[in-house]
Amino acid sequence: MSNKQGKLIIFSAPSGAGKTTIVRNLLGQIPDLEFSISATTRKPRGNERDGIDYYFITKEDFLHRIAKKQFVEFEEVYSGTFYGTLRSEIERIWDKGKHVIFDIDVEGGLHLKRKYEEHALAIFVQPPSLEVLKQRLSGRGTDSPEKLEERYIKAEKELNYAPQFDIILKNHDLNTACAEAKQLVLDFLKQ
Ligand code: ADP
Ligand code: 5GP
Repeated sequence: MSNKQGKLIIFSAPSGAGKTTIVRNLLGQIPDLEFSISATTRKPRGNERDGIDYYFITKEDFLHRIAKKQFVEFEEVYSGTFYGTLRSEIERIWDKGKHVIFDIDVEGGLHLKRKYEEHALAIFVQPPSLEVLKQRLSGRGTDSPEKLEERYIKAEKELNYAPQFDIILKNHDLNTACAEAKQLVLDFLKQ
């Protein structure tokens, strides 16, 4: 168990809205933040590396960890594909005296917000429209046509969750969104 408690910065959005891009940008600018590496059962894509982008584990290992209550939250984000935040990951980061930043789906984000309340800032990244979101997702070039379709269907539903977050951050122009995100996070960390 960790003795230290830092803060939690949660970025959630439908896939393709730009949260990973914004989170990476913030990590490069605010040294007090460290990325919460989630566990997942999906396969690495592109340049992703185990222990950096995700802990890539088998479904068997994931289910074993659920049974051992090692997750603060987990979701079957896409059918048959699990993602989750390990309690040990948050403690690892807090023990270093840092605050944790998350790139997580909307249900997981709201789950963490309900759990950590005022210690957490939950930000919903909003794309200009569903059409633009689809263009960004297909333009990213990382998903097969079937996976893209699954992400589009989920994205449409997830856009409705925005009002439940502390803040809605519009991601139209990327530089503007990153600058706004930086200010929001710095203000929250000062409180
Ligand atoms: P998410 O993590 O929410 O799934 P990404 O950060 O992977 O989304 O962004 C999806 C794609 O859209 C990436 O190719 C990224 O470079 C691009 N992108 C992100 N924000 C913008 C923006 N404001 N304008 C144009 N393209 C963007
Ligand atoms: P991707 O496969 O594109 O990396 O991620 C798919 C979705 O899973 C994204 O919305 C991402 O934010 C979400 N995700 C990543 N890690 C976690 C996690 O630990 N918990 C939950 N609930 N969702 C996660």
